[in-house]
Amino acid sequence: MIFGAIEAGGTKFVCAVSDENLNIIERVSIATTKPEETMKEVYAFFDRYEVDSIGIGSFGPIDVNPKSATYGSITSTPKLAWAHYPFLDEMKKRYDIAYAFTTDVNAAAYGEIKKGVAFGSNSCIYITVGTGIGAGIVIDSKIIHGFGHPEAGHISVQHHPNDQFDGLCPYHTSCLEGLASGPAIEKRWGKKAQELEKTHQAWEIEAYYLAQALVDYTLVVSPDKIVFGGGVMKQSQLYPLIFAEFKKLMNEYVATPLLEDYIVPCGLGDDAGITGCLLLAMDALETAIKK
Ligand code: ADP
Ligand code: ZN
Repeated sequence: MIFGAIEAGGTKFVCAVSDENLNIIERVSIATTKPEETMKEVYAFFDRYEVDSIGIGSFGPIDVNPKSATYGSITSTPKLAWAHYPFLDEMKKRYDIAYAFTTDVNAAAYGEIKKGVAFGSNSCIYITVGTGIGAGIVIDSKIIHGFGHPEAGHISVQHHPNDQFDGLCPYHTSCLEGLASGPAIEKRWGKKAQELEKTHQAWEIEAYYLAQALVDYTLVVSPDKIVFGGGVMKQSQLYPLIFAEFKKLMNEYVATPLLEDYIVPCGLGDDAGITGCLLLAMDALETAIKK
């Protein structure tokens, strides 16, 4: 059996094929330009394999509601060339096989709970802090979709008293992504996040925002684990700052697991999304066979 994965990001598409033991046979990285160009390369890659099913984890927002007329499309995105692109339909036209279609962060959450640092947990939230902020939720081996998918990167947070920056989100004032994404850090301090000193005030402000989000996620979902991914979270000095702020905000209201075990960096690193997509492809095939 050959399984396919597409981790469709705003800057690059990573495509991979694996055997049934998740051994990756080949992977490619393709620049995200226009659908016609990017998809041509995606097809060129998968055309070379007899793929049984494909798992897609896409940037969004996307339509994940199978009952919707536009199921499987990218919906409103600032990447205008991709707005309303019928991603899944186009894939199906090319390869009439089984598919899974979800967000990039949901796929990563699935990868982390099945094979990564959240292995053995019943539920987890995966949050990426990179170019954007997004979170995926898995409970009882199921990705949480409702009428749509969670957009937990856009929750409101309270402004840090010493932060004069208005935020970057065109939709919301005081939104987590707008205030704490990599580009927000860069805009606020005039330097890329990775170029700031480990002791810079930026990290305390960053932790202030991220801790608010994690307290909210904890109060709403009460997951077994919260897993961090994304470039910004490579700054390991953030963790103790987040723990301290989290404790302050939670104020002992909920007795969480030990924070060092509860809020952790991802175990699969850059492979979380691709691993999740491959696992979802396997599940999709199994479901299709049962039908
Ligand atoms: P993407 O979100 O495009 O998948 P990343 O997760 O690497 O990619 O996010 C890119 C953002 O993360 C940029 O804003 C960049 O400045 C920031 N970033 C990347 N690496 C680091 C690092 N080591 N430390 C802090 N910030 C980083
Ligand atoms: Zn927002």
